[in-house]
Amino acid sequence: MSTPIESVAPTESPSLESARVEGPIGATTRLTVDLGAIAENWRRLAALATPAVTGAAVKGDAYGLGAARVAPALHAAGCRHFFVAHLGEALTLRPLLPVASEVLVLHGIPAGTAREFVAHGVTPVLNSLGDIEAWHGAARHAGRRLAAMLHVDTGMCRTGLSAAEVATLAAEPERLDGIALSVVMSHLSCADDRDNPMTARQRARLIEIAARIGHRGRLALANSAGVMWGPDYHFDMVRPGIALYGGNPIPADPSPVVPVVRLEAGILQRREIDRPEAVGYGAVHKVERPTRVATVAVGYADGYLRAAGNRGQALIAGREVAILGRISMDLMTIDVTDVPEHLCRPGMPITLIGDGLTIDRVAAAMDTVSYELLTRLGRRFARQYLGGA
Ligand SMILES: *Cc1c(COP(=O)(O)O)cnc(C)c1O
Repeated sequence: MSTPIESVAPTESPSLESARVEGPIGATTRLTVDLGAIAENWRRLAALATPAVTGAAVKGDAYGLGAARVAPALHAAGCRHFFVAHLGEALTLRPLLPVASEVLVLHGIPAGTAREFVAHGVTPVLNSLGDIEAWHGAARHAGRRLAAMLHVDTGMCRTGLSAAEVATLAAEPERLDGIALSVVMSHLSCADDRDNPMTARQRARLIEIAARIGHRGRLALANSAGVMWGPDYHFDMVRPGIALYGGNPIPADPSPVVPVVRLEAGILQRREIDRPEAVGYGAVHKVERPTRVATVAVGYADGYLRAAGNRGQALIAGREVAILGRISMDLMTIDVTDVPEHLCRPGMPITLIGDGLTIDRVAAAMDTVSYELLTRLGRRFARQYLGGA
């Protein structure tokens, strides 16, 4: 069964002169990351969120797309707040961004590293009383107030101060002495589902907790999906991630963003099958009619998940074609029976992501989400960045 290709807004036509290709010699697969589209998506979200400040989640190497290229492009678009998961990611990113921008570590302060944060001008998101104590100590040692954000748990039970820790902090506010709390934040667990009452509950809890600890400053709650919930959810700062990279934050709604990623592979081999045979490992796909098969050098070692076997789609010269049989480690096979011979010769391109084959759609064929698809895309591809600084 084939789903019609969704219509998507076209990205700016890429300037090929500004594009450099990086990657292994002889790679027959090319991942193209459109930095101009990322900047456009940031501007669109910033326009929705204004007057709230719009930061960016660039953790996980900017969702696999290369933080060293993505973050400076976002900075050029106007972004000043960059969220990573680990201190290590922050230390890699810090020298690539102007000092006036802020690099924030979502996971807090690993034991014994508070001075690294201070020395490198990296801001922690304090997640626990232990983080608060470490940052309080670092401020005393530095002899000045140190900036931080504070993460409180409003129902996700993952990171941030628990209810018990909030109670302690409310009773002992001097724990925050020396800490310039710029923002009290939390993280939404269900905002991709408009019908889920959790989102409104988390919003109410954030307001309640901020009041309990006497915080009269800025608040933040929204990820990409949260931005789409409107002004009540924007508070003072939003932190989109996936939408910047072309993912539709609320899959049931029309996408507010343009595609960013293209994945194109060259046909490695082609064969005609004119008698009953099976294609690929496990012989799970039985060919019942004369079939033309194109082999492409992309497999699960490249992050093209095995779950897409016999389910995923690709495009050749704008025609939708189906993946046949299982995905191997380094290869997949595609049914090109209905494609004219002159369009599917070895060396000719097959689009695996792009031209309406959105990351959301490809991820769905893999039983996963666009986040996992992007962060797993492999390092064996040639990489091309379009636009950007
Ligand atoms: C990853 C992350 C984000 C961004 O989420 P998206 O759903 O990708 O927009 C925002 N805030 C926190 C705390 C995160 O971990």
